[in-house]
Amino acid sequence: MSNSVEGVEKYRAISPAEFFYKYREIAGFSNPVRALYQTVRELYENALDATDAHGILPDVKIAIRKVDEIQEYYRVTVEDNGIGLPPDVVPNAFGKVLFSSKYVLKQTRGMYGLGVKMAVLYGQMTTGRPVEVITSKQGFKRIYYFKLRIDVNRNEPVILEKGTWRKTRDWHGTIVSITLEGDWARAKPKIMEYLQRSVVVTPYANIIFITPENEIIYYPRAISILPRPPVEVKPHPFGVDLEMLKQMRDLNTSETVKDLLIKNFQSVGESTATEVLSRAGVDPSKPAGSLSEDELLRIVNAIKGFENLRPPSAKAISPLGREIIVAGLSRMFKPEFVEAVTRRPQVYHGHPFIVEAGIAYGGGTPLGEADKPVILRYANKIPLLYDEGSDVTTFVVKEDVNWANYSIVFPAPLVVLVHVCSTKIPFKGVGKESIADVPEIRREIRLALMEVLRKLKIYLVRKAREEEVKRRVVLLAKYIPEIARSLHTIVRGEDGINQDLLEQRLAEIVAKRAGIPLEEVVKSLETVEIGT
Ligand code: ADP
Ligand code: MG
Repeated sequence: MSNSVEGVEKYRAISPAEFFYKYREIAGFSNPVRALYQTVRELYENALDATDAHGILPDVKIAIRKVDEIQEYYRVTVEDNGIGLPPDVVPNAFGKVLFSSKYVLKQTRGMYGLGVKMAVLYGQMTTGRPVEVITSKQGFKRIYYFKLRIDVNRNEPVILEKGTWRKTRDWHGTIVSITLEGDWARAKPKIMEYLQRSVVVTPYANIIFITPENEIIYYPRAISILPRPPVEVKPHPFGVDLEMLKQMRDLNTSETVKDLLIKNFQSVGESTATEVLSRAGVDPSKPAGSLSEDELLRIVNAIKGFENLRPPSAKAISPLGREIIVAGLSRMFKPEFVEAVTRRPQVYHGHPFIVEAGIAYGGGTPLGEADKPVILRYANKIPLLYDEGSDVTTFVVKEDVNWANYSIVFPAPLVVLVHVCSTKIPFKGVGKESIADVPEIRREIRLALMEVLRKLKIYLVRKAREEEVKRRVVLLAKYIPEIARSLHTIVRGEDGINQDLLEQRLAEIVAKRAGIPLEEVVKSLETVEIGT
């Protein structure tokens, strides 16, 4: 017998709240710098989801205040004019990890049902202070107030205080305040960069940011059109699996299996359902509740192998559109050239997605690096700041685009914007910082960039040609006084013709032909005369 120590294993289950409390780094809450940045992000992204996705032009106010003399405690407050929350869901929305209204097939910034709870957890863990929420929905007569914390062991909200009062004006929206330990000095640059990048793709929002130093940063609305709001869709059969079908069965036990398919999937009508079930060898009139696992599996295989299905609907996706991207880039960079494109919907692994690309060139556009332009990455309208090196867009920029083809020599005053939107973004982590290298997405990014770059090239070639013409005109203009003098010796004595008039006429003709302002030509005449 060995004399090793026989350890007694201790088994227990933990709640989702406890899991994410323990492993908060994976959601971006690793230290006071990241936590402050991430808290602003989570609240701000919820505010935007509550507005633009519902057809409301966003008015968002973010305030960070230092609330303790000694400790680095900050109170982050974000106010929006969004759809608000019904009072009965507030406790779970802010106090139960993995509770969300965004677990549906529709493009939103949030998707995990985690963000605001992580901020609440981090706040209560570092400062002991609860989250405060004030909210009212459109058409509601009352405003509701909640003060709550999360019971980590049970993953349940604990309401500490609540109140309600009548509305005196027609306000709707939500105000959330979370107090946490943060490091403003070091988080500031990241927060500023995040907001700046965010406003590039939300030029339709009014955003006010008040810093702990009481500095007020205001990004006024630059355009009053909204992206088309996303519409919830049913799942597409290409994405079906056994678990999904089982869930559907258990929710609709009394339906016939044929109706089950028609009602729960997009692109499936009478004839498709009948055909699928005949291929699966399942009686279409059988009640869903009586389907065996084997039958379900046969249906999954039959439906996945069906050739003639319409591709997934893109209604659930909400791209920005050319106009908004152009407005956003123009406001931020005041470039000399700007262009954007929205590609047609495509599909990867059964999920619809759309890629958009924009470029800003010259003017106030910052100079990129020695081997690439400045890259602005976005996923479902969220700016991605970290992990640039492992993002699919970076791969495309560095490996798939031949920049010399587009008359671009680095470093160039060029900003490239890429926006991927989908009902499911293949993020590499729950911190949502980079998009995985999915071939279908990579291809679309390349095509989108090529489309805008072709337009940039046309512009650059034309500009170079015009500059060449101008250079030659300016060069030739030097000779105008001399020519005028010679001509004048010949036509001297004709009615009203003198040397100045000849010079003037020649300058006019040259300017008109070259398409440049007369003053420019005249300027070159004078320069030469002074010199000679
Ligand atoms: P997620 O955004 O991924 O759904 P969160 O934990 O950030 O997860 O938010 C949980 C839910 O609370 C959201 O799905 C939304 O329904 C609701 N919510 C949060 N903030 C707001 C807000 N400002 N306005 C309206 N609803 C909100
Ligand atoms: Mg969220």
